[in-house]
Amino acid sequence: MKVALIGVGQAGGKVTERLARFDAEMGFGAVQGALAVNSAEPDLQSLEYVDTQLIGADRVNGHGVGGDNELGTEVMQSDIQQVLGALDGRVTSSAEAIFVVAGLGGGTGSGGAPVLVHHLQQVYDVPVYTLGILPGRNEGALYQANAGRSLKTIIREADSTLLVDNDAWHEQGESVEGAFETINERIAKRVGLLFASGEAVEGVGESVVDSSEVINTLRAGGVAALGYATEIASEDSAENIRTAMSVSRQALLTGTSLPDATTADSALLVIAGDPDRIPRKGVERARRWLEDETGSMQVRGGDFPLESDRLGALVLLGGAERSERIQQFMERAREAKRAREETRTDHAAQFADDRLEDLF
Ligand code: GDP
Repeated sequence: MKVALIGVGQAGGKVTERLARFDAEMGFGAVQGALAVNSAEPDLQSLEYVDTQLIGADRVNGHGVGGDNELGTEVMQSDIQQVLGALDGRVTSSAEAIFVVAGLGGGTGSGGAPVLVHHLQQVYDVPVYTLGILPGRNEGALYQANAGRSLKTIIREADSTLLVDNDAWHEQGESVEGAFETINERIAKRVGLLFASGEAVEGVGESVVDSSEVINTLRAGGVAALGYATEIASEDSAENIRTAMSVSRQALLTGTSLPDATTADSALLVIAGDPDRIPRKGVERARRWLEDETGSMQVRGGDFPLESDRLGALVLLGGAERSERIQQFMERAREAKRAREETRTDHAAQFADDRLEDLF
């Protein structure tokens, strides 16, 4: 699937850069253009593989919006014409979809991405998706509240919102900050493979995934999740039936970007590997298993021929917002918001008391 990428904010820019780099290094050619937008100038200066656009310079002078996502919304709104202008020519007629990439817990990405998605929907005919990063459980209350607010709006504006939970794709015991490198690399590889899997591969049979399979899977709207797992495969495809099942199970049950997201409206199972090692029977079996497990009647499938001694499964879920994780997340975000409002009220009450004391 040929895509144009727009990263908003720090995490958005870094992940976009990683995606553009992975696609270039692998020679897939799925990424048609990549732009990073930020209100913080230093964050943009560290990027090499993407074009950049500074916003909000008149308001924050290149220093960023801190964690203020309302200010993030305002600066994107005021400078939207510059951002759309910077995209001119990058969202070429060859792009089949646009992905807006952002960390939903911060300020610029959290507040700016929903505004940008809204405007892109007015301008472009291709689907506009979000790749959103959710804060991990141990990130502060402000991050949770920001992400809750951003998520609600962005789900409404985007054609689908692919979520990566910051707790999902790193090793146990690693701090979230220390894990950013690992997480970003995994996002780049997994989402990068998803983009590339929708590319036509010359000289290979009919079961290759088409871009429309990805788009149709995401047509369910709401929240999407991506799972991935690989295992060493035998050279003889008949011996890999069990492996195809096993990687598919792992991809869904332990390897998803949104842990616990197993109920979905639609799903796509891509088996990646050397065509000689891919077992037809195993792929069919895994696909039926995925239907049962997700409760979806719409499970698509296809192969992604790659030169490798491993067999990989990439599982894309569409319409996965009924997952427990999302419900828990929205609840945490609501709690964080309430707690913040109470603190504010306490301060206000205390401030009033102090003033009264001064008066008497
Ligand atoms: P912004 O620049 O104001 O949009 O803020 P950030 O992009 O720093 O967003 C903060 C959120 O993104 C928090 O939940 C962070 O944990 C997360 N975040 C920041 N940088 C990274 C990164 O490089 N990778 C990942 N996966 N998450 C990040």
